[in-house]
Amino acid sequence: MRVRFAPSPTGYLHIGGARTCLFNWLYARAQGGQFVLRIEDTDQARSKKEYLDEILDSLKWLGLNWDELHFQSQRFDVYRKYAKKLIDEGKAYLAEDGSGAIIAKMPQKMVQIDDLIHGPIKFDTGLIKDQVLIKSDQSPTYNFACVIDDAEMNITHIIRGDDHISNTPKQIIIYEALGFGLPKFAHIPMILGAGGGRMSKRAGATAVTEYRRMGFLAEALVNYLMLLGWSPGNNQEIISLSDAVKKFDIAGANKTAATFDMNKLLWLNSQYIKSREPEELAALAAPFLSEKGFVDANNFDSNSIPSILKLYCERATTLVELADALKPFFVEEVKIDEAVREKFFAQDMTKEFSVLKEKFAALSDFSARPIEEAFRSAVTELGVTTKYLIHPLRVALSGKTVGPGMFEFIEALGQQRTLRRIDSIVRSFKK
Ligand code: GLU
Repeated sequence: MRVRFAPSPTGYLHIGGARTCLFNWLYARAQGGQFVLRIEDTDQARSKKEYLDEILDSLKWLGLNWDELHFQSQRFDVYRKYAKKLIDEGKAYLAEDGSGAIIAKMPQKMVQIDDLIHGPIKFDTGLIKDQVLIKSDQSPTYNFACVIDDAEMNITHIIRGDDHISNTPKQIIIYEALGFGLPKFAHIPMILGAGGGRMSKRAGATAVTEYRRMGFLAEALVNYLMLLGWSPGNNQEIISLSDAVKKFDIAGANKTAATFDMNKLLWLNSQYIKSREPEELAALAAPFLSEKGFVDANNFDSNSIPSILKLYCERATTLVELADALKPFFVEEVKIDEAVREKFFAQDMTKEFSVLKEKFAALSDFSARPIEEAFRSAVTELGVTTKYLIHPLRVALSGKTVGPGMFEFIEALGQQRTLRRIDSIVRSFKK
C-alpha cells in the first residue's frame, strides 16, 4: 500500500493541502504502507525554492514525515519517453501549429471511478477534448506527469481534494493508453471558509505557516485538520496523531464539505496549551517572547519562566496571547492605557498604595500566602473593601485589568519589582 502527497511549490502549504497530506499520511501509517512526497515542480517559472522550503518545513512541523521524496523537475526525460511511446502507438500526435507540443487523442467512452469516499462516478469522455501531454516548452502537463509518476512509483491509492475529480477521467484515459493498472481513488471534500465559499485569503489565514505564526501548536492544528472531514467516533474531539493512526480509515472520511471554524481551532489550541508541561510550554513560547523583544532568543534560558507560565496557561488560547500575557515580567515599567487609568485611578490613591507598600516591604517570605495576608491587613487598616483595592493593584502591577490569581502573580513578579511599580503609581498621582 503506497500513497502520495503531491504539492506544487507555486505557493505556501494551504490548510486544505495540509489536510490532504494528513489523510494520506494517516492512511499509510494505519495500513503499514508507505507515504511518498512528490514535488510537482514542472512549472519552472512559477515554482520557487522559498515555497518548497516552506512546504517541507510546514510538513515537518506538523509531524508528517515521509518515506520517499521525488521531484518531477528531475524526471522530464521519463515523461518524454512515454509521450514518444504514445506517438509511436498512434495514441498521441504533435500539435499541428508546429509548436512541438504532444497531444493525446481522447477516445470516446464512459469512464467510471469507484471513489472510496463518494462511490461510483461516471464520465463521458466524449465531452473531453484531446489532451496536451507535453507543452511547447517541453514541460509535461499535470495530468500526464501525475499518471506516469503514480504508476512508476507504484502508488496504490490516490487521496486528494475533490477539486481534482474532473481530472480523474482524463488521467484514467492516460493510464489505459499506457497500459498501466489503475490505482484506487478517494476524493476528499473541500474545506469551506466561514462564509461558505472555498477557504480563501480574503476570509482569513490559509497558509499553515500563518497558523504557526499566530501561535497555534502543531498538535492542535493537526488535531483540528483531522476533524475537518473525519471523526474518530464517540464524540471524541481531542486525539493525537498516534491514536488517530489506530482508528483511521479513508473510507470513513466525510462525503460533504467541512466548514473551517476558527473558534473550534482556538478551543482545541487552548486545550493543548493547558495540557503541556510548563517546561515544554516555555520552549514553545520562547520564539514568541523573542519576537516581542521580551527576551533574546540566542541568550534565553527557558527554564527561567515555567513557574510564571503555569499562571497563564489556563486562559491562553494561543502562544501569542500567552507571550502577551507575560509582558509585565519582561518590561521595567508597565504602561497603563489612558482609559484604564481614568477608570481605576480617578482619585488619588497615594494613601492606599503607601500602606500596601509598607506591608509588602515588611515581608521576609515573599510568597503568595504571606502576600495575601499582607494585602488583607492593608484592607482592614484602610477600612476599604477587597474589591476596592485589588483591581487598582492589579492594574498598577501588570498594566492589565484581568489576569491570573493576584497573589501568585505578585509572588512571581518578585518583591523589588512590586515595590518599584507601587512607587511608580504613587508618583503618577502627584503629576
Ligand atoms: N500538484 C497537484 C496539486 O497540488 C497534485 C494533485 C494530485 O494530488 O494529483 O493540486
